[in-house]
Amino acid sequence: MTTMADILRSVLGRIWASSRIGDDFATLSACGGRFAGTESEARAREFLAGRIAEATGAAVTCRPFSYRGWTRGPASIAVAGKPPLPAVGLVRTPGTPPHGLSAPLIDLGRGTPDDMARAAAAVRGAIVLVRHEFMMGTDHVHRRRKYDAARAAGARGFVIAFHEPGCLAVTGSSGDGGPGHIPAVGVSHETGALLSAHAGQDVTLHTSGTFTDAVAENLFAAIPGRHEKRIVLSAHYDGHDLAASAIDNASGVAAAMAVVEALSEVVPTLPCGLELALFTAEEWALIGSRVHLDMLSARQRAEIACNINLDSVAGDATLTAITGGFPGVAEFVRRALEPAGLAVGLHQGFMANSDHANFVRHGIPALRVCAGFAKPDSNLRFLLTAADTPDKVRLTELKTAASVAAALVLAACTDPALPAPIQAEEGRRIAGF
Ligand SMILES: [Zn+2]
Repeated sequence: MTTMADILRSVLGRIWASSRIGDDFATLSACGGRFAGTESEARAREFLAGRIAEATGAAVTCRPFSYRGWTRGPASIAVAGKPPLPAVGLVRTPGTPPHGLSAPLIDLGRGTPDDMARAAAAVRGAIVLVRHEFMMGTDHVHRRRKYDAARAAGARGFVIAFHEPGCLAVTGSSGDGGPGHIPAVGVSHETGALLSAHAGQDVTLHTSGTFTDAVAENLFAAIPGRHEKRIVLSAHYDGHDLAASAIDNASGVAAAMAVVEALSEVVPTLPCGLELALFTAEEWALIGSRVHLDMLSARQRAEIACNINLDSVAGDATLTAITGGFPGVAEFVRRALEPAGLAVGLHQGFMANSDHANFVRHGIPALRVCAGFAKPDSNLRFLLTAADTPDKVRLTELKTAASVAAALVLAACTDPALPAPIQAEEGRRIAGF
């Protein structure tokens, strides 16, 4: 008789014996940064649609959705009388007037909301300089909180400098470009230092971009189990256009495909089915997964037993499951990995930093697996810069992540004590949005 332990061993063996995960990771990274709305994103989608069909043997569904697209134009910042310094517009920043936006520069260091409140009088009417922080940890203040605090305090422009040397400008999203938003750019550590030396002086910020009505497509493939419930294994395939978006998130997509490929023959014999969901526009405030989950009927959402979301799962040897305070999820992770001899760190504070947040918002048990959590020296520090390239990732990291994800999926498909859904209202309270 085949036991679950036999199945688990054979699935993990398939992952470690296959070279596809490395090939898929390389192909996706070679598509470029996969910024939503670009040729690079379209190339990745085309590759993935074919590859998912091969890996799952199931029909691939492309579900299009409309969103407010944006194309990045040039950006720079200049101290009066000096040549302009390079900058990168944050995603969906409003443009400056053609002659630029001139205002005094104020350097708020880290630039937390408290810093912003303390310097409120000086922030009003100024261009505010703050610092980016390592994002994969508990004590960081996210760019969006700094940006929102700056505009709430009446800043006219926002500049965020990368926190480490290397001439790497940082990007990320800053809002939806609607009324009340202010021009926002990222710069390198070095440019930040040059600007800081001129704090108090007038600077001129230039940034531009074009808003368009756009359509993007999430990709799905389902392998039914014996009952109607299914586990959704997700990863976002979009990224940023500064680099290959290799860690974030070619790593998660390659690992997810390795999992469905290794499990494709097993799932039809299990109680729960498995759906692979590859979302896009995640880097745009999680739009792709939000639209998808909002469009499902209550009954369709009720069929999702659990979401396992893979985002930035390589670039360091350590993995963490962000279980977000969802009742029972941390215990489920421990129970699922123990028979495989695998272990991950557990972070039980909620972080709305990837697509799992939209599942939680609908009361569906969800977790995110990521690498390098709370390890600021790991390669995860290069996220959102031109250095998020394939050389930062080891093949063994990808395979370990796929093994952890496969063990979680296998357990979720069979665990009668899987965490129960909660009321959507309670999910929204946990998610905070
Ligand atoms: Zn990501």
